[in-house]
Order: sequence, then C-alpha cells, then structure tokens
Amino acid sequence: MFKLQHQQAWTCPGCNHVHNAPTSVEFSLSVGIEAPRQGLPLADYIDQYYGPDVAGMTCSRCQWTGTARQVITISEAPEILFIQLRRFQVVVKKKGVSIKKLSNSVPFGLWLDISRHNADTTARGPGALRYKLAASISHSGDMTQGHYITYSTTGQGVYCLDDLNVGKVSVQEFLKPGGKFQPYILAYVRTY
Ligand SMILES: [Zn+2]
Repeated sequence: MFKLQHQQAWTCPGCNHVHNAPTSVEFSLSVGIEAPRQGLPLADYIDQYYGPDVAGMTCSRCQWTGTARQVITISEAPEILFIQLRRFQVVVKKKGVSIKKLSNSVPFGLWLDISRHNADTTARGPGALRYKLAASISHSGDMTQGHYITYSTTGQGVYCLDDLNVGKVSVQEFLKPGGKFQPYILAYVRTY
C-alpha cells in the first residue's frame, strides 16, 4: 500500500553508456525544499528529487568522472503516497553540529500528478499517476519546542485535529494552515 519503488539510471557524457542502478524501495518521498532555491511549489521540488545532479560520478567503461544527472523513475507507485518536506535539518560546522528548521512556505495542491516520473514511458500522460490530498501534519515552533496539528479529510469535509479540539475547516486552510503552522508531512491517495 505504501511501497514506492524507484529505478535509477545515468548516462555517461563521455561514452553515452546508460548505467542502471539496482531498484530501491521507499515508504515515503523525502523531498528537500532548499534546492535549487527556496520558495518553489512542491511539484518543483519533486522534479528536483527525480532528476538530481550528482557529483563524483565515474564511468566504469570510459573512466569519465564528473557531475552527471541521475534520472530516477517510479517503477511501482503506492496507493498512499507520504511526502515528507525536509524542514528539519542537521548542519555540520567547525564548531559542531547544529539543527535548524526551514519555515519557508511550499505551496501544494489538492491534486498531485507525478505521471511524468513513471518508469513506464508509455504511461506518462496526465492522470496515469494521480493523487489527491487526504491528510497532512503541520508543525509550529522551532527545533527545541513546538506543537503539531493534523488535517484529515472525511466524507463530510476537512477537519483539523489539534489536541482535544476538533473542528471543520475550509479547503483553503487545509492547503495553507493559519498561524505559525508549516506542513511537513502530506498524505496523498491515488485516484484512478
Ligand atoms: Zn563513459
């Protein structure tokens, strides 16, 4: 239900050989929200996830080394797709390790279409891998203290669960929580 299987490949700029890596299995999509820059919508960070430039690649055929684009595709898509926005970061400095939270807004929609990343190239048209937002978890505060709330969809609309307080909210709030809350886990359900 949660299994997300990826294929990875890169093409050597020196000899054009396509290097395929073994498939990998994830149970959530852990998406960075800094590169190529902050302030982009979720779809852009997902594109970045599926096509990162990786330094230090070496071709076993022609010995070319350098930075090459790794192309990741989805060979098995989950029924429920968890997306984790990497807001909580460990920063290594000379003086030691510190942790920080990225509070930038990452706009996302009720619908998410990731068909273009399908490993099956014949099924990359819109709707092949389409998801609808079902729930989210948001955090307010910093790395030392804070509070979590959940938004969840039901047959009667969207509800906010905040400790003992449960109340119906608008879709607008679901997509952009008020106050100082920033979404960091999104749960999307596949639609057919
Ligand atoms: Zn090569």
